[in-house]
Amino acid sequence: MQKVATIGEVRAMIQKWKKQGEHVGLVPTMGYLHEGHASLIRRARAENERVVVSIFVNPTQFAPTEDLATYPRDLEKDSQCCAEAGADLIFHPEVSEMYPDGFCTSVTVDGLSAGLCGRSRPIHFKGVCTVVNKLLHIVRPDRAYFGQKDAQQLAIIRRMVDDLNIATSIIGCPIVREADGLALSSRNAYLSADERRAALVLYRAVCAGEALVRGGEKKISVLIDAMRTVLSQEALARVDYVEAVNARNMQPMEIVARPLLLALAVFIGKTRLIDNCIVE
Ligand code: AMP
Repeated sequence: MQKVATIGEVRAMIQKWKKQGEHVGLVPTMGYLHEGHASLIRRARAENERVVVSIFVNPTQFAPTEDLATYPRDLEKDSQCCAEAGADLIFHPEVSEMYPDGFCTSVTVDGLSAGLCGRSRPIHFKGVCTVVNKLLHIVRPDRAYFGQKDAQQLAIIRRMVDDLNIATSIIGCPIVREADGLALSSRNAYLSADERRAALVLYRAVCAGEALVRGGEKKISVLIDAMRTVLSQEALARVDYVEAVNARNMQPMEIVARPLLLALAVFIGKTRLIDNCIVE
C-alpha cells in the first residue's frame, strides 16, 4: 500500500491502473478510522481491483464554532487499518493541496441540504459536496463508498452525482455499531466514560421509533414523541433534532410512507452525535 499527499501522484497512479483495465473504488474519510470505515474499505476491496482511501479533515465543512482544531487524527494507525482492510493507496493531502490560494468554487445541493443536519450546520453540506466533488474528479473512481451512518450526506451525494452526470456509482453501506448498539464514530473518542454510557440513548431512541413503525404506527408525530421521550430520560443528552422524513428526498411527512428515515442528532456533553435507521 502506498501513501501520497499530492493530486499529481494520485492521478499518475490512477492512470496506470486504468490503462491496465482495473476498476477503482474510492472511500472518502476524515481519518481516525474505525470498523465502520473498515467495512467500507473491505466492500470496495471486494468490488474493485484497486481501492483508494482519502483521509482529509475538510475545513470547509466545519463552522468556526465546531471541532476542526480538535478533530482526532492518527495517520499511523489509519495506515494500518487501510492496509488490513485491503486498500492500495491512501491520499492524505494538506489543506493547501485541496484549497490553494485563490480557490473560490463550491457545490451546493439545494433542498436536500436544508433540513436535519443542514439546519443546525448550515455550511456543512456545501463543504462536503465541494470536497467530494473534487475527490471524484481527482480519483475518477468507478464506485465510491459512503456509510448510511450519514444518511442525509449519502442522499445528497447521490443527488449531486446524478445532477452533475458524474460517472461514479455511489454505494451506500450499512451502519456498523458497537456490541451495545452505539454507532461507531470518530467523535466517540471525545466521550468520557459517563458520556459513553449516556450516548447509548441515541440508539435506544432510534430503536423505539423503528419498533413503532414496524408495529404499524402511522402517525409521524407519535414516532417523534416516542423518540423524544426516550432521549429526555438521559440527563446528559441535549437534542439537536429528531426527524422522520422520506429517506430519498429528505422531505417531511405526516403519515408514515416508506422508505422512511428516522434520524436524530444529540449533544452528549459537548459532543454532537448522530444516528438513524431507514425503514424500507
Ligand atoms: P467520516 O470519516 O466520519 O467522514 O466518515 C467517512 C465515511 O465513513 C462516511 O461515508 C461515513 O458515513 C462512513 N461511516 C462513518 N461511521 C460509520 C459507521 N459506524 N458505519 C458505517 N459507515 C460509517
